[in-house]
Amino acid sequence: MEKKDIFAQIHELETHMGDLHQELGALKLVVKELLEENQRLWMENQQLRKVLHHEHHEHLEALPETEGESAPAADDPELFNEAKENVVGEGYDNLARLYHEGFHICNVYYGHLRTEGDCLFCLSFLNK
Ligand SMILES: [Zn+2]
Repeated sequence: MEKKDIFAQIHELETHMGDLHQELGALKLVVKELLEENQRLWMENQQLRKVLHHEHHEHLEALPETEGESAPAADDPELFNEAKENVVGEGYDNLARLYHEGFHICNVYYGHLRTEGDCLFCLSFLNK
């Protein structure tokens, strides 16, 4: 094989690799966008489920009581606070989970995929 042929081949390979590299980069971007969209849809779904659940409960509460069971008084401040804390705790867990799945939960990049390891904004938010 002549020297010239080898260099021509290497050059061809190089060009090919450059193209592949570009294609890979573009694909990576597409995957990132899909993951972010998936996350947005998941969050929206969660929100809708919450609303649906809430409405379902309101509907149940509107029904006349059976079996004489005493339902907790809605105006009991202790019960109300407990329920509120549960909701807050749940929200925190969801955010922590999101973060560990690789998404930003800080208000700077909220919902975007974390591509560069830990985010200081997110961490300071989690440690509050
Ligand atoms: Zn962040």
